[in-house]
Amino acid sequence: MATLDFSTGLRCRVCGKLYPKEALNFCKDDFGPLEVDYDYEAVAKNITRAKIEKRPHTMWRYRELLPISGEPSVGPQVGGTPLVKADRLADALGVKHLWIKNDAVNFPTLSFKDRVVSVALSKAREFGMKTVGCASTGNLANSVAANAAAAGLEAYILIPASLERSKILNTSVYGANVIAVDGTYDEVNRLCSQIALKYGWGFVNVNLRAYYAEGSKSFGFEIAEDLGWRFPQHVVCPMAGGALIGKIHKAFTELNKVGLVSQPNTCKMYGAQAAGCNPISDAVKTGKERHKPVRKPNTICKSLAIGDPADGFFAAKLMRETGGWAEDVTDDEIIEGMTLLARTEGIFAETAGGTTVAVTRKLLEQGKLPRDEEIVICITGNGLKTMDALYEAIEPPVQIKPSFSEFESLMGNYASV
Ligand SMILES: *Cc1c(COP(=O)(O)O)cnc(C)c1O
Ligand SMILES: [Zn+2]
Repeated sequence: MATLDFSTGLRCRVCGKLYPKEALNFCKDDFGPLEVDYDYEAVAKNITRAKIEKRPHTMWRYRELLPISGEPSVGPQVGGTPLVKADRLADALGVKHLWIKNDAVNFPTLSFKDRVVSVALSKAREFGMKTVGCASTGNLANSVAANAAAAGLEAYILIPASLERSKILNTSVYGANVIAVDGTYDEVNRLCSQIALKYGWGFVNVNLRAYYAEGSKSFGFEIAEDLGWRFPQHVVCPMAGGALIGKIHKAFTELNKVGLVSQPNTCKMYGAQAAGCNPISDAVKTGKERHKPVRKPNTICKSLAIGDPADGFFAAKLMRETGGWAEDVTDDEIIEGMTLLARTEGIFAETAGGTTVAVTRKLLEQGKLPRDEEIVICITGNGLKTMDALYEAIEPPVQIKPSFSEFESLMGNYASV
């Protein structure tokens, strides 16, 4: 069988130097981040819409544009989540054409992180690694733990000790070695770099980061295919490290480059953050070329709380160059975003989803997003994992005795309001 691996190596995003496919994330000359490079001419000759449409509805239907050499050995069922036409949310926000890409139901751990982890761990196996790990703000921890368990890999997972209880439980249950660090995500991440160097383990978002980040492109491929092989005019995306927003845009550009979509990629990219940790949106709004790290993130949106984002520079540049913008919202606005989405579309997203909905509303009010063009909102994680954020905000149910008259008087009370 012909190979489906068209990746040619890792290319430095600063100087362009090409490295072989290895577990390396920084250029040895200038410390620039490395990105997977492909032979796009060969991909164009080998891929057609018909070929893709015959494959199962998982992220691997686009595998000519993903960097693994054999069959995916981790997460073969990941991806293929719904693109929902969100007419009721559209009415509430006062826009004409709105979709939600819903990775709150991604398999197996209910966030888009399963996409990046399946690529990184499949690659770790190709490299012969037996032990894997990550530094995580929560969802990545869940996904590495679950996918490593299913693949029979040993996992070490380092998290800030302040994470939500449910995100921690949703990691430990899979039998991973969970280490809670008394520090911020950035401090956890630095520790993981040292561990990866000394122990040679495969840290999905450290030494395997170049492969990991490519998995995010499948989120963009699916949006384009589900719109009928075309691009929306605007995408609003939550940002933590700032990789996903760039990879959705890269996905659109690649689809055009290999001839699957003839329309050029003119999609405008908008980033969403929490006000309590907004290094990238601040850079966009104040016109800084480089973001200023946030030392002590303080927000209920812990999944996005990365104070010094690895791809912050590229994300800010992308938003400027595509004509998009960025915003950040308060914790109260995040909760309003979560309940608005739940009450209009029946979708329970985590705090990152509330952030993205609330930022969309803010950008519409500011006139930064037009009300009559096509907008896709990226929902990246499930609300069942961040219920701590809502217990105080949501009214408990009314309680009655098991008696019909009590029910009737309750109805009477409501009618008299
Ligand atoms: C990790 C994460 C993001 C952001 O991903 P980056 O690529 O790091 O910007 C968005 N939403 C959720 C729910 C996440 O867990
Ligand atoms: Zn370089």
